[in-house]
Amino acid sequence: MSDNLYARIRARFPADPARPMLYRPDGSVLTYGDADRISGQVAALLDQMGVAPGDRVAVQVDKSPMALMLYLGCLRRGAVYLPLNTAYKPAELEYFIDDAEPRLVVCRPEAETAVRTMTNGRPIEVATLDATGDGAFADRVRATATVAEPVARSRDDLAAILYSSGTTGRPKGVMLSGENLWSNAETLVDAWGFTDRDVLLHMLPIFHTHGLFVATHCVLLSGAAMLFEPKFDAARALALMPRATVMMGVPTFYVRLLAEAGLTRDATAHMRLFVSGSAPLLPETFARFEAVTGHRILERYGMTETNMNTSNPYDGDRRQGTVGRPLPGVELRITGEDGSPVAAGEAGMIELKGPNVFKGYWRKPEKTAEDFTADGFFRSGDIGTIDGDGYVSIVGRAKDLVISGGFNVYPKEIELVIDRIPGVDESAVIGVPHPDFGEAVVAVVVREAGADAPDEAGVLAVTRDQLANFKQPKRVLFAAELPRNAMGKVQKNLLRDAHQGLFA
Ligand code: ATP
Ligand code: MG
Repeated sequence: MSDNLYARIRARFPADPARPMLYRPDGSVLTYGDADRISGQVAALLDQMGVAPGDRVAVQVDKSPMALMLYLGCLRRGAVYLPLNTAYKPAELEYFIDDAEPRLVVCRPEAETAVRTMTNGRPIEVATLDATGDGAFADRVRATATVAEPVARSRDDLAAILYSSGTTGRPKGVMLSGENLWSNAETLVDAWGFTDRDVLLHMLPIFHTHGLFVATHCVLLSGAAMLFEPKFDAARALALMPRATVMMGVPTFYVRLLAEAGLTRDATAHMRLFVSGSAPLLPETFARFEAVTGHRILERYGMTETNMNTSNPYDGDRRQGTVGRPLPGVELRITGEDGSPVAAGEAGMIELKGPNVFKGYWRKPEKTAEDFTADGFFRSGDIGTIDGDGYVSIVGRAKDLVISGGFNVYPKEIELVIDRIPGVDESAVIGVPHPDFGEAVVAVVVREAGADAPDEAGVLAVTRDQLANFKQPKRVLFAAELPRNAMGKVQKNLLRDAHQGLFA
């Protein structure tokens, strides 16, 4: 039997092809039978367009059911699906096209001219798909009379290349095999109790691991359905919750839901599970969400390179501020600077091994070699701790660690103290070059509008009271907002660049 990922997923589809796979915002349905037919037409069209197994198909389009069919069609064709964040401007797109050398680029109609200019003279096809799922590509799919069957693929063949979010530098192409995606999907269906009675509220983008793999695969492997919405909207989420059972979101979704007066126990009574990931969920968000709805948000930890690594339990104790225990099949260890395991409870580099861990960075063999240990563990770049019960907490990124006067300072610890000060909205703590200390701790603080917010002395009074001397910010700076990447993550490298001369 072929290990084509689409064939493996399809084997889990419900026996009845009339079962809904997704509901469009207007309530119309795309059934499992429709998805099987359309993805087969996509695969046939890709073949006609000269896309061979192993070729990359770069896709920068708005979220639509057809965009999802394009993903499934690529799997059927054995092509490597390469989704790109819709926030990237045409000028930024060029980096990805040069790097990935796709055979086909599917873009929004308004980007077509720019894409044709940058691909001119190269063996690259260009097609368009718009936000409603129409456009030249969709027309050609509908006009395709043949339905292509999945081509033979091995488990290690690449199914997708996803670029990392670019929080710490230029996005890196992450090579994911069919087995990487399949093994994680099976694990999550089981861990989170997905069944064909579930209806997932899908408001995440589908150019990233969370929305494309975690959310969609949980649905497809369990024969469930999803409410497939173009983007997150808190009021709309509340209106749909009576029809949904599970929601997956980034922490901001939960912050925005909490700002809605309509968020109540009743409004969420039909839901069985709220999942959060991609960035740290603040303890106060977790606590307030539970107080208002009675639901304890299930936080999990993953990354583009590994899919999901840890999860709080579905049945059992979901611990605030932790990302839960390693998922079945995932080996996780925490190591110190010399690469040997740290003592229990101490912070160190999170290292990962398992069928979920990627095949390497696209065309970056040195970077790949650097990030794997001799015994095959991936050095995640995240710093974490494990408690006596096996629960993992993420302390921050290795690149964001501040070393001041020879002491390690984990920014998150200081941010948590500052964020609790009345009148503070959020904060980012960074290390800035300092003549005496090597690096000095600096806090960049966003104050709440109109509130009786603290000044620099006010913030320092609190940190002095609650934190050891070496962790004290040397300066507190105020900003209207923190710089964020297209996934909404704080870009500390930009803050470091902006303030590097502070103590010069
Ligand atoms: P880049 O690698 O390009 O700098 P990135 O690491 O943000 O960007 P992603 O792969 O999208 O790209 O994000 C994975 C990272 O997100 C993890 O390494 C971790 O730092 C963070 N993350 C994910 N889930 C959580 C979580 N529950 N709590 C804290 N951090 C999380
Ligand atoms: Mg990363």
